[in-house]
Amino acid sequence: MMNREKYSRQILFPPIGAEGQERLLESKAIILGCGALGTAQANALVRAGVGTLRLVDRDFVEESNLQRQILYDEADARARMPKAIAAARKLQQINSAVRVEGVVEDVHNRNIEELVRGFQVILDGTDNFEARYLLNDVCVKLALPWIYGAVVASYAMTMTVLPGSAPCLACVFPSPPEGAYDTCDTVGVISPAVSWVTAIQVTEALKILLGRHHELHGALLAYDIWKNQFQEVRPRRDLQCRVCGAREFAYLNRTAPTHSSLCGRDSVQIHAAAVRQLDLAELKTRLEQFGRVRVNEFLLIFSVDPYELTIFPDGRAIVKGTHDPAVARSVYAKYIGG
Ligand SMILES: [Zn+2]
Repeated sequence: MMNREKYSRQILFPPIGAEGQERLLESKAIILGCGALGTAQANALVRAGVGTLRLVDRDFVEESNLQRQILYDEADARARMPKAIAAARKLQQINSAVRVEGVVEDVHNRNIEELVRGFQVILDGTDNFEARYLLNDVCVKLALPWIYGAVVASYAMTMTVLPGSAPCLACVFPSPPEGAYDTCDTVGVISPAVSWVTAIQVTEALKILLGRHHELHGALLAYDIWKNQFQEVRPRRDLQCRVCGAREFAYLNRTAPTHSSLCGRDSVQIHAAAVRQLDLAELKTRLEQFGRVRVNEFLLIFSVDPYELTIFPDGRAIVKGTHDPAVARSVYAKYIGG
């Protein structure tokens, strides 16, 4: 039975009403990435009573996240909690009547279909083009709506992709930008820019979950909240689009496995060649002779000057202290094994 009091102010809003609220409670949304965008989206969706929410993130909480990643606190940073777990716990305290599932995983072409299948809308909380083109591939393939969102400094951008009826990401941006581009790790980010873009993403998600597709904004919206510069363009579908036209899913069907990827300014993520089950307690005993080791129930942190390795039970690791994948792989091989 629905708790009418909890959602009373939202039920009073005519486009939602009691019927819409029931529908939201039966809905399923998924957020990829639990950083600034993902935590703001999750906070709003859980308070709105979206019945099932899955959060997927590969990373752990650090002090520099707290300025804008609204579901985390100092204790999460001290404990190095995986973001998906810390967020899910906080969200269940906010609303115990919805189902929140935190998944600590790196999203890649071998697991994304399984992760998103069965959900009605996907919100983009990722921070890189690679992940977004992969998401675009899978959403066009499975005909799932997704809501692109990106933010850097005081500038943010969003677009809603409805496969089949609206342009996809590749219609608008056929290829990723070349060379180096600004990221939150190089030029920073302010939280009001996050609030602006996630407010639009969440509103679009609610419209999709309520079946009110005719009320979607239908544009590529961009706003610099510091300079007060707003842009709205209405892109069209590219009939020659390699993804939604030709249905070539290059990011999804890529065969070469990725062994490592940049992850922030001075970190490299190492993907284990094959999924394995590491015994973190055993690993702790083995590594203690080389440096400082800390373990919680989700991960192990190993500090060996000048590096810090965060190791997950499936063999994945984040090596901090270098931006060189070769160096990171050799540190990994030395202590964890190939
Ligand atoms: Zn397209």
